[in-house]
Amino acid sequence: MSNAIQAIRGMNDILPDEAPIWQHIEKIFRETLHSFGYQEIRLPIVEKTELFKRTIGEATDIIEKEMYTFLDRNEDSLALRPEGTAGCVRAGVEHGLLYNQIQRLWYQGPNFRYERPQKGRYRQFHQCGAEVFGIATPDIDAELISLSARMLEQLGLKSHVSLELNSLGSPESRLAYRKQLVEYFTAHKDQLDEDSQRRLTTNPLRILDSKNPVLKDLIANAPKLTDCLDSESKEHFTKLQTYLTSAGIPFTLNPCLVRGLDYYTKTVFEWVTTELGAQGTVCAGGRYDGLVEQLGGKATPALGFAMGLERLVLLVQQLHTPKQSAADIYIMSENDMTFQKGLELASKIRDKFPTLCTMLHCGGGSLKNQFKKADKSGAQVAIILGEQEFASQSVAVKALRLTAPQQMVRWDDLISHLEMLPAFGGYSL
Ligand code: ATP
Ligand code: MG
Repeated sequence: MSNAIQAIRGMNDILPDEAPIWQHIEKIFRETLHSFGYQEIRLPIVEKTELFKRTIGEATDIIEKEMYTFLDRNEDSLALRPEGTAGCVRAGVEHGLLYNQIQRLWYQGPNFRYERPQKGRYRQFHQCGAEVFGIATPDIDAELISLSARMLEQLGLKSHVSLELNSLGSPESRLAYRKQLVEYFTAHKDQLDEDSQRRLTTNPLRILDSKNPVLKDLIANAPKLTDCLDSESKEHFTKLQTYLTSAGIPFTLNPCLVRGLDYYTKTVFEWVTTELGAQGTVCAGGRYDGLVEQLGGKATPALGFAMGLERLVLLVQQLHTPKQSAADIYIMSENDMTFQKGLELASKIRDKFPTLCTMLHCGGGSLKNQFKKADKSGAQVAIILGEQEFASQSVAVKALRLTAPQQMVRWDDLISHLEMLPAFGGYSL
């Protein structure tokens, strides 16, 4: 084993044990997104590096130090996508999906960032994102947030997460605010840590996002972005709050919420939890009215969010024990000839009960041994194809979880017999 190759640090295998919880979350998300009229879009994992540089912003963590880039054989610089919005907007512009129309889109899949791996932070991680294009009014901000709220609620997380809200205003009001902030932090430069001193010239708003406890008071006393908002952004923000209140979605205003990416305008929000340690943000989103135009499309208002699936898996795992996946029917056979009949019967059973798991024993062995495997599989029912049964064109059917006697059933009657079994009471056959 010493020379066995291992996975890349921070890139995890999702093992069969964990797959049911991922499938559960993905199913709930797919259904909830559908119930709000969102359509799925599937996007490439690799894009031109330029796409992310132009959209995310040169002075962000992602572009400065987190992106996986490489030259392909053609010497073009390509990148593994660090997030989904840029690719979604690129595809929307490229295929004319955003021109004078409203789109509600969603996607999911892996993203890649070169970060220090720790609980809730990986180098390959998965997001489920939703984006809306073509609506400038705050009603859609409220609807999008209520979609995210419902997705979390459907996972049973309602009482474990809370919503934080802020407005970044227009690019102009943000610029004015940036000036005030630089003045303030420059006056207290000696108190800033190294990272924040660097950000003072590159991306001062990011200082507000610093997790360094030493800076807490300094940040708390900094000028507030909300005090610098232009009147249109202010009205947008007030209306959004009214809508959320009437939708019964509680929120906290967090003037330090600035998000890691450059492209946001007006509304920004995060769903956070205190139950995952330092990596507490499970969903992040906001409005990005300038991005479509920046990528060569017609100016189009837009907004979206992304859920971090790994953090949600951790939360759901912490709170609920997921149902283990188990077989329903286990078919065993005594020899090669009866196995061939087993192949045929398994196929018939799957035709009739496509949602059940019908496992056909392979690999031979004694019936006693096969019984042990059947028991371990969790199956409700074993179907035994012994030589004796075979001679009378029958199988033996045994309920594994009930103390019922084994029954001989003719091949032709097998399906109707299975339909009657009390062991399948829990299934809608
Ligand atoms: P953070 O402040 O935690 O680094 P971010 O601002 O970089 O987050 P976004 O780019 O907004 O995160 O991504 C949205 C969501 O995706 C995050 O809230 C989080 O749930 C998830 N996410 C981001 N980066 C990672 C990662 N490296 N590993 C796992 N999940 C991640
Ligand atoms: Mg980050």
